[in-house]
Parts: sequence; structure tokens; C-alpha cells
Amino acid sequence: MPLQPDGKTLPMLTLTQGHLRQLEICPRRYQYTYIDHYNAPIDPAMAERQRWGTQFHLVMQQRDLELPVDDLLQADPDLEMAVSSLQAAAPDLFIPQPKGFRQSEHRRTLAFNGYGLTAIYDLLVMDATSGHIVDWKTYQTPSSKTQLAQEWQTRLYLYLLVETSDLPPEQVAMTYWFVAPPGAQADPQPPSSVTIAYTAAQHRRTQADLQRLTDRLTALLALNDDLPQVDSALGHCTHCPYVVRCQRASERYAMAGGVELPAIADIAEVPL
Ligand code: SF4
Repeated sequence: MPLQPDGKTLPMLTLTQGHLRQLEICPRRYQYTYIDHYNAPIDPAMAERQRWGTQFHLVMQQRDLELPVDDLLQADPDLEMAVSSLQAAAPDLFIPQPKGFRQSEHRRTLAFNGYGLTAIYDLLVMDATSGHIVDWKTYQTPSSKTQLAQEWQTRLYLYLLVETSDLPPEQVAMTYWFVAPPGAQADPQPPSSVTIAYTAAQHRRTQADLQRLTDRLTALLALNDDLPQVDSALGHCTHCPYVVRCQRASERYAMAGGVELPAIADIAEVPL
């Protein structure tokens, strides 16, 4: 790993929700993805869903910037249907906020324990008394509220908004909108949403977990060696694209003749 040549200080590493998630699951997985930049195998259908998700995000951003989107929508009727169904389900999201702050693809960063914590919100809507983060998910089945509240995306995004604004935790929230991609189901459902509220206790817990994770990463990087692999008994390896590289493919897995692909939630629609 390209770490600490001649003992010089490295530039501040960026940590996004994706970094934190992988770091928590398995430090080696974080290393392979974000330090070594190994390409994980990807199923063509998943690659197409990723491409479509990126297009959806682009349309939503351009709409918000009042840039033309007709060409993009005309080229892809599924995209047009997805945007119009979201507009019908959540008309308030499409109304400009002349008195407040509203920005698509809004970036926030915070120096924390030697790292640059970074989030890019699909949409941020704020005024003097509230802050609302909106995230588009281009898969149809919503995760449960409990599951979403525990995701690093939710935790980091809310934490950063509180730390970089004057708003207390109770005045910020995050909403995930789930929009069906083409061919998701025979009977596509209209977009649905899950909103996560925030509290001071959750904020303190996230801060403590960020401290723990960044302390650990600093200690591991100082060893200037491969980062440790997770205990295989925890079951993360069977869902990991690096299972072959790590020589952790089970016999059953090898007999299946393939590599298990990342969960769809791992697909980054917007590079971070
Ligand atoms: S296969 Fe297991 S040990 Fe290797 S990177 Fe993936 S999760 Fe970590």
C-alpha cells in the first residue's frame, strides 16, 4: 500500500459513507476498493442499473438547476416515467424555495480526527429552522426505517449537516425516495419514501463511532501493511466481490462457478 513514504505526512484522506461502510465491514475490503482501486467483477445487468441510476440523478440535478432535460428524457421513456411518477408522488420536492436554501448535489466536508468527512446530498433544502436531506434510490423495494437509520449514509449525512450548520439534531431529517428502475417488477409501484428523524443522542453515538473508526484506521495505516481481513465466521465474505482474491470462496461457492455480486445498495449511482 502506498503509505507514509519517508515518514512524511500524507494528505488528508477523504472518508465518505461508502468508505465508512466498507471499513466497518472489513478493513481489507476498504483497502482493495479505495486504496488499491481493484476492479470488482460486476454483472452486466447491475452495470446497466447503475448507468440508469446515474442518468436519473443527472436529470434530477439538471431539473433543479433549471437546465434542459428534454433530450435525456426523450431518449429514455423509462426515465421520463420515473421522473413524472416522482413528481406526482412528491410535488413539494419540485417547488423552488425562494426564501430558503435549496441545492442539488450539495457537498459538505468536515475535518475530523485527521480525515475529511465528505457527503454529497442529492438534494438539500434548508431554512433558518430546518434542514432536510433528500436521497434518490433507484430501486423499488424500500429498506426498513430501522435499517436505513443504521446505514452509514444516513448517519454521516445527518451528522455532517448538524456539524456544518447552526441547526440542532432535532431540526434536521433525511428522506429516501425509492423509484423503480426499468423492469424492476412486472407491476411497478409508485415511488415511496422513508423519512429518518434525528436526535442529540444519535448525534453523540455517531460521533463516538466516527472517532472509533478513524482511530482504528489511523492505527492500521501506520502499520504500513495490508489491512486485516474480517473474521470469515461473520459471513461478510460470501457477499464480497473480493472473495476470490482473498481466497475465501467456499467449495459450494466455487461449485456455483461465479462470484457473488455486491448488494444493490452498494451500487454508487453518483461517484463518491
Ligand atoms: S472476501 Fe472477506 S476478507 Fe476479503 S475483502 Fe471481502 S470481506 Fe474482507
